[in-house]
Amino acid sequence: FYPLLIPHRSKPKGYRKLEKTYEVGGNRPSALRDGFTSKKIPEDVDFVVVGSGVSGLVTGAVLSRVGKKVVVLEQHYLAGGCMHCFEEKGFEFDTGLHYMGRITKYGGLLSLAADKDIKFARLGNEENGWTYDKIVVNGAKDFDMRGDERKFEEDLKARFKDSPQDVERVFKALRGSLEDGYPFLLRMIPKWLVRPLVFLAKQNGWFGLAAKTASEVIGSLTTNNKIKAVLLGTTGDEGGSPDKNCWLIRKGILRHYISEGGFYPVGGPSEITKALIASIEKAGGRVLVRANVEQILVEGGRATGVVVKKGSSGGVRVMAKEGVVSAVGTSVLYKKLLPPSLCKPGLTAISKLRPSAQHISVFVGLKKPKSELKLPSYNYWVLPNMDVKTGKYFSPMESDLKDYDPMSIPPMAFMGFPSAKDPSWEGRHPAKSVCCIITEAPYDYFEAWAAQRSGRREANYNAIKEKIGKRLVDEILLRFHPELKDAIEFVEVGTPLSSEFYLGSEKGSSYGIAPDSDRFYDPDCINTLRPDTNVSGLWITGQDIATAGIAGGIAAAYITASAILGYGLVETMAKRGLVDDMKKISSVEKLRKDKRIKLV
Ligand SMILES: Cc1cc2nc3c(=O)[nH]c(=O)nc-3n(C[C@H](O)[C@H](O)[C@H](O)COP(=O)(O)OP(=O)(O)OC[C@H]3O[C@@H](n4cnc5c(N)ncnc54)[C@H](O)[C@@H]3O)c2cc1C
Repeated sequence: FYPLLIPHRSKPKGYRKLEKTYEVGGNRPSALRDGFTSKKIPEDVDFVVVGSGVSGLVTGAVLSRVGKKVVVLEQHYLAGGCMHCFEEKGFEFDTGLHYMGRITKYGGLLSLAADKDIKFARLGNEENGWTYDKIVVNGAKDFDMRGDERKFEEDLKARFKDSPQDVERVFKALRGSLEDGYPFLLRMIPKWLVRPLVFLAKQNGWFGLAAKTASEVIGSLTTNNKIKAVLLGTTGDEGGSPDKNCWLIRKGILRHYISEGGFYPVGGPSEITKALIASIEKAGGRVLVRANVEQILVEGGRATGVVVKKGSSGGVRVMAKEGVVSAVGTSVLYKKLLPPSLCKPGLTAISKLRPSAQHISVFVGLKKPKSELKLPSYNYWVLPNMDVKTGKYFSPMESDLKDYDPMSIPPMAFMGFPSAKDPSWEGRHPAKSVCCIITEAPYDYFEAWAAQRSGRREANYNAIKEKIGKRLVDEILLRFHPELKDAIEFVEVGTPLSSEFYLGSEKGSSYGIAPDSDRFYDPDCINTLRPDTNVSGLWITGQDIATAGIAGGIAAAYITASAILGYGLVETMAKRGLVDDMKKISSVEKLRKDKRIKLV
C-alpha cells in the first residue's frame, strides 16, 4: 500500500514553464555540427553536460523538458557520441548503433525526452520470423535468433532435441528475477548503506547467479556446447570474454533482444540525435561540437562550470547555475577533468576495473541500390574459432598481446547492412548500399601509432588497416554474400585509435568499463559508478553507471535526471517517478494514448 502514501504530481518536480520557446533548429542537418564559439553560449545556463552521446543528450533533453536551459559540449566535430554517423564518398555509415531491443520501453523513453515520436523499424521480416541475429559458429549449423521469447525457446528445443531439459533450465535462468535489479537499486540509496547491504547480500546469496561469470552460469545450465554457442554467440554485444563477463549482463542482453526483437531508427541513428538536440534547443539550450572540455570547475566545493580547450590561448569558461553533468565515462572524468584532490575514491574504484573491449570497424560502400541487392536486415555474428567441442569462446581482448596478430587469428565478427535496416534509406541514397563489419582488437596492438596525428599516421599503420579490411571483406562479407564482389566501391577501416579520437574514450574502449562482476557488486565501485558524486552540483551519467548499449545510456540518463530533480528510489519504484511525471507533460504520450501514433 505504500504507493498510496506518495502524492501524485501533475508535473515533474522542479518543473518550470518556459517563458518562451526558442526557434527549433535541432532538426536541421547542421545541428549535428554546430561548432563551439563563446558567442553561442546562451545566457543563464542551468546545466552544462559534457559529452553528447545518447546519455548526455537524453539527460539534457529531459532537463530541458522540465524547463532547464542546458548546454551540451562535445569534443568531436559531430554530435551523437556512439550514435554519430558519417559520410564518405557519398556513403553514409553508422558507427555504434546497429540495433536496439525492448523498443516499447527504450524507444518510448527516447520519444519522451525528445517530445517527438522517434520511429523504429523491426529487423527481419514476417517470412524469417523477425530474425534479428544469425549466429554462425564454425562446426555448428547457423542459428537464427527470432524476436519473440516463446519462439526462441521453441527454436532451441527443436534444434537441440536431445537436451530439452537444458533449454528449460536456460529459460528459467533467463526469466526476470528480483536479484537482477539489486546492482541498480544499490546506486540509488544513500552511499553509507551500500557497504553493509552488499555484505548482507553476499552472506545470504541475495545476488543469486547474477554476480557469477557468464561461462560459469551457462556451464551449470547445460553441457551441450552447441547450446552454449548460441547463448554466448552474441557476447560481442557487451564485448570481451564470457569467462570474465558477469552473467547479469549476458542475461540482460539476451533478454533485451529476445523479448521484442531488434530495431533500427528510421532515417538512421542521427534522427535520434537531431530530435534530442531540438528538445534541448527549444528550451533555449545548445549542443556545441568541437568543444573539448579540459576541466570541470569546482569552486567553494561546488561544480560551477567547465573550461573548454581553445588553442594555445587558454580555455573558455562555460558556467552553469545549477550543475555540471559528466557524460564522458568515469575514467575520463576522474583521470582528466577533475582536480586530483577530488579524485581519490573515484580512482580507487576505477583501479579495480578494466576498460571494455576495443574494436576494428570496416565500412564498406556498395555501388548498387538497396532494392537490387536485397540484403538481409538481420545481423551476422560469426565465430570461426569458438570451439563447439569444448564450448571455449575466444576473445582477442583476453589473449596475450604478443600472441595477437590480426592477420593470423580468425576474427570474431559482427556484420550488418544499415541500408537494409532503414526503410527510408533509398529515399536518401537511391543508388548505394552499405555494410559494416566489426571485430575485436586490442588497443595496445596499435598504441605505437597513438601519438601520431589522426589521418597523418605512418604508411605502415595504413598498410595494416588495409590488410585487415581486405581480410574481413574476403572472409566475412564475401563468404556470406559472394554476389557483392563487383559492387564494392569503397572500404575504410577504423581501429581502436579511431575510437579514442572520435569518442574520447580510454584506450578507445567501445563500451566504457568492462562488465566484470566487481563493477556491479563491489561497494567502492557501486559508490563511484552512480549519478551523484562527492562534489556538490556534479553528476555522472553514461553507460558506466548502468550498462553498455544505447538502452544502457538511456537508462543512465533517466537515473541521473531523477537524482538531479530529487526523485528517490521509493517514488520510482512506486511508479511516481520522473518517467511517470514526464508522461503528464508529454504530447507524444497523449498521441500514443489516443492511439494516434504507433511506436513501431
Ligand atoms: C562499434 C560500436 C558498436 C556498437 N553497437 C551497438 C549496438 O548495435 N547497439 C547498442 O545498443 N549499443 C551499441 N554500442 C554501444 C553503445 O553505442 C554505447 O554503449 C552507448 O552509445 C554509450 O553512450 P554514452 O552516452 O554513455 O557514451 P558515448 O556515446 O561514448 O558518448 C560520450 C561522448 O563524450 C565525448 N567526450 C569525451 N571526452 C570529452 C571531453 N573531454 N569533452 C567533450 N566531450 C567529450 C565523446 O566524444 C562522446 O561523444 C556500440 C558501440 C560501439 C563503439
